[in-house]
Amino acid sequence: MLANRNSLLNIKDKTTRYLLSLARTPLVFYPYYRYHFPLPSVIMIENTNCCNSQCVMCPRDTLTRTPGFMDFGLFEKIIKEVSSMRRKPVTHLHGFGEPLLDRLLSDRITLAKACGIRHTYIVTNASLLFPETARQLINAKLDKMKISFYGTDEDSYSATMRRLQFKVTLQNIVDFIRIRRELKRTNPRLILQYLPHEANHARTEEFRALWNPLIDTTVGDCVNITSLHNYGGGRAYNRVGDKIVSICFYPWTAMSVLCDGRVVTCCMDYNGAQVLGDLNVQTVMEIWNGPVLSSARRNFGKLDYSGFPTCTCCDWVHRR
Ligand code: SF4
Ligand code: SF4
Repeated sequence: MLANRNSLLNIKDKTTRYLLSLARTPLVFYPYYRYHFPLPSVIMIENTNCCNSQCVMCPRDTLTRTPGFMDFGLFEKIIKEVSSMRRKPVTHLHGFGEPLLDRLLSDRITLAKACGIRHTYIVTNASLLFPETARQLINAKLDKMKISFYGTDEDSYSATMRRLQFKVTLQNIVDFIRIRRELKRTNPRLILQYLPHEANHARTEEFRALWNPLIDTTVGDCVNITSLHNYGGGRAYNRVGDKIVSICFYPWTAMSVLCDGRVVTCCMDYNGAQVLGDLNVQTVMEIWNGPVLSSARRNFGKLDYSGFPTCTCCDWVHRR
């Protein structure tokens, strides 16, 4: 599943908020490029890059990586390292795929929680969120789950989230909320996300009317409306000018790991064009504090994205 910008940054973290509050211009930011957290504030670990959907706005048609799942031993190595630090990162357990296709997902969450990770998070299309899976995720102590649900009826849903079935997914989510209540649990909190798009007729108010009566705001559930972006150049929804005007903070705050263990600049680099290291042979600390990422920070700080083809197509650095 494709994340949005805020979900990649731990904006609840005070230091991250402070960093984000710094001006995004090189003039102000450049002197600070050497300073970064000892570990990422957020780590995104892609459990799989396989997906059972073919959403109309998703650039999966340009995915060149081999489909696969992260080896559990590699996952354990990453979790043990990041959880050994005092300041543990928010841990995303998804990437450019549907995380519920992974039969080891609840084992991964259980391990992360047992190691002391306070905040685990997935983004899913919920088409496979059947009652047994719902119980497993709740019992594994998943903290937060965003559900991409991009339609308000059968037609608008299947025109956007192609291959998925409106009624099945809707029932899954309704069942999930009931099971969580029956188990007297408050986790995971749900975010029901809508993406207004011409394929689903951008019926934002209908979406709110559908979900507001169903979600449980007393445990922190909410509805979120997001917007289209260019997915690192995989799509061209927003006009990108010639000039890059903003610094992207990801190299200072977040780390994205592909399911084969390679580390890339962010989840928008879904084809692995901007590799910063390989966790099969390196540690998180070695990559985070190593020369490749340090050089990327130095270049990003000067708005120099040459050598970063995904970034130069990214709409976020072309606007303030
Ligand atoms: S659910 Fe849709 S947006 Fe998410 S990875 Fe699959 S095709 Fe892409
Ligand atoms: S500028 Fe690069 S690192 Fe930043 S969000 Fe865009 S693609 Fe990712």
